[in-house]
Amino acid sequence: MQKHTDFDRMVTITPDSDIIASRHGGRAKCLQRLIRLALPVPKSVALSFAEVRDIAAGNEPNLGPLVAEFPAHNLLIVRPSSEDADWGGPGAIPNIGMCDATHAVLVPRLGQAAADALYARFVQTYAVQVARLDPDLFEFGKAPDRQRIDEMLAAYAAEMEETFPSQMAHQLAGVLRSMARSWDGPTARLLRQAKGAPPDAGLGLVVQVMALGIGRPETDECGAGVIQFVSSETGEAQVTGRYLSQSQGREALTAGAGVLFLSHDARGPSLEDICPGIIDELREYGDRCRVHLREEMQIEFTIDGGALAVHDAVRVHRSARAGVQIAVALAEAGVIAHDEAIMRVPTGSLPALLHRQVDPASPRDLVATGIGASPGAATGRLVFSSREAQEAAAREESCILVRRETSPDDVRGMHAAAGVLTVRGGLTSHAAVIARGLGLPCVVGASAIEIDRRASRLTTTGGRQFRAGDLVTIDGSSGEVLAGAATLFEPAPEGALNKVLDWADGYRDIGVRANADMPADARVARTFKAEGIGLCRTEHMFFEPGRLNAMREAIFTDNAEDRAAALDQLLAVQRADFASLFRVMKGKPVCMRLLDPPLHEFLPSGRDGLQDLAQSLDLSLADVTQRVASLAEFNPMLGMRGVRLGITVPEIYDMQARAIFEATAEVGETVPEIMIPLVSAKREVELVRARIDAVAAAVRRETGIDFDYRLGVMVETPRAALRANEIAQAVSFLSFGTNDLTQMTYGLSRDDAGRFMGIYVAQGVFPEDPFLQLDVDGVGELLRIGAARGRETRADITLSVCGEHGGDPDSIAFCRQAGFDYVSCSPFRVPLARLAAAQLAIAEPRDA
Ligand code: PEP
Ligand code: MG
Repeated sequence: MQKHTDFDRMVTITPDSDIIASRHGGRAKCLQRLIRLALPVPKSVALSFAEVRDIAAGNEPNLGPLVAEFPAHNLLIVRPSSEDADWGGPGAIPNIGMCDATHAVLVPRLGQAAADALYARFVQTYAVQVARLDPDLFEFGKAPDRQRIDEMLAAYAAEMEETFPSQMAHQLAGVLRSMARSWDGPTARLLRQAKGAPPDAGLGLVVQVMALGIGRPETDECGAGVIQFVSSETGEAQVTGRYLSQSQGREALTAGAGVLFLSHDARGPSLEDICPGIIDELREYGDRCRVHLREEMQIEFTIDGGALAVHDAVRVHRSARAGVQIAVALAEAGVIAHDEAIMRVPTGSLPALLHRQVDPASPRDLVATGIGASPGAATGRLVFSSREAQEAAAREESCILVRRETSPDDVRGMHAAAGVLTVRGGLTSHAAVIARGLGLPCVVGASAIEIDRRASRLTTTGGRQFRAGDLVTIDGSSGEVLAGAATLFEPAPEGALNKVLDWADGYRDIGVRANADMPADARVARTFKAEGIGLCRTEHMFFEPGRLNAMREAIFTDNAEDRAAALDQLLAVQRADFASLFRVMKGKPVCMRLLDPPLHEFLPSGRDGLQDLAQSLDLSLADVTQRVASLAEFNPMLGMRGVRLGITVPEIYDMQARAIFEATAEVGETVPEIMIPLVSAKREVELVRARIDAVAAAVRRETGIDFDYRLGVMVETPRAALRANEIAQAVSFLSFGTNDLTQMTYGLSRDDAGRFMGIYVAQGVFPEDPFLQLDVDGVGELLRIGAARGRETRADITLSVCGEHGGDPDSIAFCRQAGFDYVSCSPFRVPLARLAAAQLAIAEPRDA
């Protein structure tokens, strides 16, 4: 014999009953709150997770006590109540209790038509949702009559080989069992786990008296609707929703004809026109919810014979933009505190607020998928070279620049393009870093496409071909490449977000600077309220064509005179750029990294580039080709870059130091920070320091102006982290370049990782791309060691991270815990970093 479930834990929901969300689910808890606010909620009884689990396990519910809770001939509805509303659950089952006897009672009260409609609805719902019979057998038109009901009952009996249950207890038993079991089904399980539910998440059920919504249309108003007081899109105050006479639940939202607006509306008739008192009442309930539940709620209501019943309320569904607006409005109304408003804005929603997005509902013609390397979406015509991108821009035509990978030669084209797509690369490859700096949507590592530059053609592995001029859309958040023009959402206006970010600055206890190379980037950084520049990649100052050649000359010539001439040109350019950076930053710290060009990124590519260089060096094409070939490295990322170039060709760093100091002397309000890249030995720092000190002394002497400067090292090699104690002797700050440090710790090429990263993450080799999210165990340990050893030598040494991780919330959490002074990230990620840092400080205050 089967064991009985006794409902000894079932609880009638009253203001004081013992309802707990983790035992009865969120809906039961919310209904209790509505009851406490004196909203007209019909009588409701909550069944706990344990009871529902028992039923699912096959134990027959003993329904006597439950049925006895409700007066006879009331129809009931059973609603799911999972712990978190987002985890879903089976659909509610209404009109339980309809049978011949109840029908007979309802006919004189509601009229024949209404009683028939309620009966037909219940037979249909029960047959399809509980008995899982073919829905076609239980269709009925607008006005089912007794004959159709009998046909449906007969169909049920034929299919089930038993008569339709006529007792409330039998019907309820069937409903409860079916809802309990559907929660346990593998699909439901997978779906909710995808939304973050734990494997053992429980389902509660709420059994509630039905407000019918169906009655005599000729006398009192009956119907149902849904109302909220803000827009789900914008979050602005606005009565939103629909109402339908002679309907139940949320039918008004999907019905066509006869649906009414809620408040007076020029577009058509409204509920307010026919029942003004009801709308006033609903407004009052909305206000109560807002103040006491501290949330914007969507209220599901029924009008029954002119009286209002509220049978459910859920958090208003909201876009990222509406989420911020609602949090700010609640805080400004004094309903929630600023810190709570900050906590209510998920950092993950910021890209959608700051960048264009592909409308998630629009159809997507997917061509290829790569790595989303810079958020935002863009549509444009395909171009295959920087030159074509600039030509398109001159025609004011939006274009997507497609390259196998990008190099400094492409930066002008990137400026001109609406988006960038590369076949190779990973999250910190050239294209990715530059695009993020520019706030330009970018997809890298789309290895399923091939490009034929000469034919201006892109071919997918599936064989689809696209030519120059074809329209494509790239989604730099998801990494998708779509054919044609997808529907795009514009970024949200920033008013509400800026308020939250300003509040956030009051809580955060770790600094946020921006990686900015040019005065224009610095202006963006200031707009986003970065506290300074944490990394100016000075080689990026030479991306303009004229400048690029001068820099190439300085690097490639083996003739001292030519080099001096090239460096002289660069000096003037750099001094002017630094001076304007300082002016834009108005005395805020600016940290400039000395030249660090991985040579392959700066080698001229193609015949045109070589010819240009030959012209400026006044050499033959053959000579230049040979010189470039002799400089080519097998492993440029580990070759003559960073401080290695600085020590081999010291005039380059001398020139840069001079440019920085002359600009300092000229502008006057800055203490410049100079940073040496790719250090691995203390002696490197000593050599560079001695020369920089000498340049500083010379500039002080020549200008008669005294100034200070700070020298630091970029910790980008594991050895620099391990030897941080001795390196710290010569410097006042250490900035961890976690892009290179990740590359070198893993032995994982920044430019090639895209080819297998997807597989690695999918197979769980890496929990996440370590170029995106700091590898706390490995690279993180080096950071901790470097920080501790640096501090041993110099307790007040400034510590920071300036790799791309500086804009990642989990990585920021790590830096904060490790006691770093600031993080620095691309300007467009500064808002996210400010918010994430504040949320960390609020969740776990430092002194706690
Ligand atoms: C780094 O390596 O983390 C860094 C910031 O420098 P770059 O990306 O320019 O190599
Ligand atoms: Mg680096």
